Amino acid sequence: MSQARRPLIAGNWKMFKTRAETSAYIAALRSREPLPTDVDAVLCPPFTALATAQAALDGSSVALGAQTMAAEENGAFTGEISPLMLRDVGVRFVILGHSERRRDNGESDAAINRKIVAALAHGMTPIVAVGETAQEHAAGQTTARVVAQTQAAFAGRSAAEVAQCVVAYEPIWAIGSGNADTPEGANAVMAAIRAALPGLEHARLLYGGSVKPENIAALLAQPHIDGALVGGASLDPTSFAALLAHASERRDPSGNANVDGALRSQSNVTT
Ligand code: 13P
Repeated sequence: MSQARRPLIAGNWKMFKTRAETSAYIAALRSREPLPTDVDAVLCPPFTALATAQAALDGSSVALGAQTMAAEENGAFTGEISPLMLRDVGVRFVILGHSERRRDNGESDAAINRKIVAALAHGMTPIVAVGETAQEHAAGQTTARVVAQTQAAFAGRSAAEVAQCVVAYEPIWAIGSGNADTPEGANAVMAAIRAALPGLEHARLLYGGSVKPENIAALLAQPHIDGALVGGASLDPTSFAALLAHASERRDPSGNANVDGALRSQSNVTT
């Protein structure tokens, strides 16, 4: 039996929600407890709401994530937030290399590589985002682009380190567009990501880009899609809870999550 990869649903709130809105959201989410115990749920609020979220999530199964991080522990880096500071407010996951940060903040593959090293050194799980532009997609460069981004991000990391990380495939043209990639299309790209480096066979791969409660089940039915990185649909607690419920349903009755169940149902189709 191949080792099951536990489903992971991460909500990237981007630049949304005050502290009061964060408290109200988490109270609404927790009113639905128990949340599925067979899915890892992560919320990534803005920095200003992290401490509020940490307190509100006390005793919950939902983990706290951040949306970016500096590679350095401290120093003269005006406006930056360090891994030590994130750990101080209970952060366990950190999104690195989101396309909006690559685009708006000039984050390079080399910078993302250093941040992965720092996150691992501080016991946080990096969620490393890769993805192609609409032009690259149209030009048939998707696989080459995301494989190159993945290999650059993890350059110098051992297979054991890579296996601890999460990679999120987020086609830039699908983000916030309402047009998610097709499940088959995303799976094909993610199969290439999975094969890009030793260790990724054990790592969780997320799809991101217009994931909604309506389309997540079809995405998660694919063998290489272990979860989702969700923007807009994570901003509403009812919608986030629905995403978790769909991810939980993906487990097969024997308790094997993800790839095992998906492969089994695929082979049922072909036999
Ligand atoms: P949407 O789910 O709003 O398309 O955003 C995806 C994303 O960028 C998550 O990081």
